[in-house]
Amino acid sequence: MIFNARATVVVALLGFVFDAFVGVGAAPTSPAALAKVVRSCTQPKVAALTFDDGPFMYTRDAVSILNKYGAKGTFFVNGKNWGCIYDTASVDTLRNTLANGHQVASHTWAHKDLTTLSRPEVVDEMTKSHVAIQRITGVNVAYMRPPFGYYNNQVREVAASLGETIVTWDFDSGDSTGKSVQQQKDQYHQVASQKPNSVLSLQHDVHETSVHQVLEYAIQQLQGAGYELVTLAECLGAQPYHNVGKPESRTSDWHC
Ligand SMILES: [Zn+2]
Repeated sequence: MIFNARATVVVALLGFVFDAFVGVGAAPTSPAALAKVVRSCTQPKVAALTFDDGPFMYTRDAVSILNKYGAKGTFFVNGKNWGCIYDTASVDTLRNTLANGHQVASHTWAHKDLTTLSRPEVVDEMTKSHVAIQRITGVNVAYMRPPFGYYNNQVREVAASLGETIVTWDFDSGDSTGKSVQQQKDQYHQVASQKPNSVLSLQHDVHETSVHQVLEYAIQQLQGAGYELVTLAECLGAQPYHNVGKPESRTSDWHC
């Protein structure tokens, strides 16, 4: 499906204006489309490791470790969180992630709780990261993860207008909620021992320990239990992007 992010932005904004225009005294309109929400993989014996909050200084190492094991990962990236997506290092990191066959998806611009924002703010948070990823890499992402996993129908409507499916997780390493390295390793050991049909994980490539001390163990545990480590799209039997175009060259709009 051909899908243009900029056209989508216009459509999303026009939709907002239209909603406001017909809001008073108009006949009831059909409900807005709600984005699908994915919580688990659908394919058997696969694990999708997903990394949130980058790109950051450890992302490239995460990619190298995944590569070493023939594993694929998925990176839900922010525009402006631990770093700025338009910084030269972030641009290089993002392109390197793609070039190595890993998936990139959106985690919104500034990692706000979307359920606390007005509709124009949600549109802004979700559109700016979607467009930034497309400018930098050329891909039009089909998936997004709301910060903290928090969403409501307004978020689902805006995601649908951008062509994004919402993704949460069914396994949390605990690296953002204070779990120690050993506790995180124990979590992976446990899930690998339990052998669920599939695993859709949450971890963060912005934490040094997650990348340098836990990731290799996690991969070994999951592969040792017979899981194939695949991208999110592969674990759903779906496509990661609506279309793949050419990366753009830097302009004065590339700033945080
Ligand atoms: Zn996050």
